[in-house]
Amino acid sequence: MTDAPPDGSALVVEAFERVAPPLTERTAAFWTSGADGVLRIARCHGCGRYLHPPRPVCPACRGRDVGFAPVSGRGTVWSWTLNRYGWVPSMPPPYVVADVELVEQPGLRLLTNVVDCSPEELRVGLPVKVCFSRAGEAYIPLFRPEAGDGAG
Ligand SMILES: [Zn+2]
Repeated sequence: MTDAPPDGSALVVEAFERVAPPLTERTAAFWTSGADGVLRIARCHGCGRYLHPPRPVCPACRGRDVGFAPVSGRGTVWSWTLNRYGWVPSMPPPYVVADVELVEQPGLRLLTNVVDCSPEELRVGLPVKVCFSRAGEAYIPLFRPEAGDGAG
C-alpha cells in the first residue's frame, strides 16, 4: 500500500485560490516537496532532529548539516480554531486553522489548515494525513482526517 502516490492524487482541489508563499533558499524545498505527494521536513543530519520551520542551524546540536527528509505525512491535531475572519480576499471564511503535530517527533508541528472535515468532527488528537493544495510553484501542505471517510 503506497502512502502517497506520485500521480498527484494527494492533491486537493479547493473552492478558493491560495496565496502562493514566497520561495526562499531556506524554504523552497519545503514548499515544493508535495510535487510528488510526499511531505519533506528540514532535518539535522548530525543528530537526526526535525526542524520546522526550516532553519540553517540545528538548535539541539548546533550542527549546520541540515537537509530535507521525507516524513510519513501522518500526524494529530494539536490545536485548532475556526477562522471566521476574511484575512485574504481569495479565501472566504470560515475555514479551520490548526496546529498539526507530526508523528515523527514530539513538538514537531505545522501551522496548517484541516480540510474535508466539519468543525463538529474536529478534536484535539484527531489523526490526520497530509494532502497538498497547489498555489503557484508551491504545494501547500494541508491535512485531512486519516480515517474520516464518507466521501470515499
Ligand atoms: Zn542536530
